[in-house]
Amino acid sequence: MNFKEIIQEIYQQINNIDDKGQLASYIPELANIDSEKFGIHISTIDQVNFGLGNCYDKFSIQSIAKVLSLSLAYSILGEKIWERLGVEPSGTAFNSLVQLEADNGIPRNPFINAGAIVVSDILLSNLENPKEDFLAFVRSISNNSELNYSNKIASSEKSAGFRNTALCNFIKSFGNIQNKPSDVLDFYFDLCSLEMNCKELSELFLFLANNGCKINDNNLILTKSQSKRINALMQTCGFYDESGEFAFKVGLPGKSGVGGGIIAIHPNQYVIAVWSPKLNTKGNSYKGMRFLEEFTTESQLSIF
Ligand code: GLN
Repeated sequence: MNFKEIIQEIYQQINNIDDKGQLASYIPELANIDSEKFGIHISTIDQVNFGLGNCYDKFSIQSIAKVLSLSLAYSILGEKIWERLGVEPSGTAFNSLVQLEADNGIPRNPFINAGAIVVSDILLSNLENPKEDFLAFVRSISNNSELNYSNKIASSEKSAGFRNTALCNFIKSFGNIQNKPSDVLDFYFDLCSLEMNCKELSELFLFLANNGCKINDNNLILTKSQSKRINALMQTCGFYDESGEFAFKVGLPGKSGVGGGIIAIHPNQYVIAVWSPKLNTKGNSYKGMRFLEEFTTESQLSIF
């Protein structure tokens, strides 16, 4: 498969379309990003790498980090984690409060904000130094000791984080948050503020294309079954109320973030990361979604 040619061709095509998206200005710092940035990077499990455009510029990975926090929490708690979280697509926006009351404070899935806040609470209860230990986990999967949080982004989100604060307090009222809400939220904002470029993202997530196993040293991050289940959740819940459309048009497990990044995984084959900061009305990168749709169409490589 000649990824290089296909990616180059689609990159040109999508770079020229009218970007109908908007920056995620509800996090003040994200409104300052250069909205013209556009980067792509693919990494295959046989170690082929190719990137284009702004693929070496770091950006805020935001909700893409929810896959990493879930991976760590799942590896610690095993199946017990599902006593506190559902595995159903929510069909609602990423920051919605509406289902929580009927569901007694059990978030529908780990990728909506409510679910990721519960995962943050689980990590706070199980890690000695949550902020440092989580970063060490991410660095160890990537073999990159330079990956880091952005204090600027985390404090910007915290300054305007009223909805996430409401979510955390509401879940706490049902008894599904064990720690102090302000500590849970600080940790959640920190993990959303992780910064990476497309190359770092596509390399890091290869363990989920490789049955939970790190590529370089065969270190097991997750069991095969856990890796399969996280891929299934990415497929059904990774794009909130646009998850069906992503499955329909792209056909890969994936996860987006409001920083404009998207990762998509083809199990046993590759990870592709795309970054373009303007978002569609569902909070997913406008050009990123378009690029991936063309990519799996042209390459004929989706899981379906
Ligand atoms: N930190 C963001 C928030 O909580 C993450 C949302 C996202 O990337 N979809 O609102």
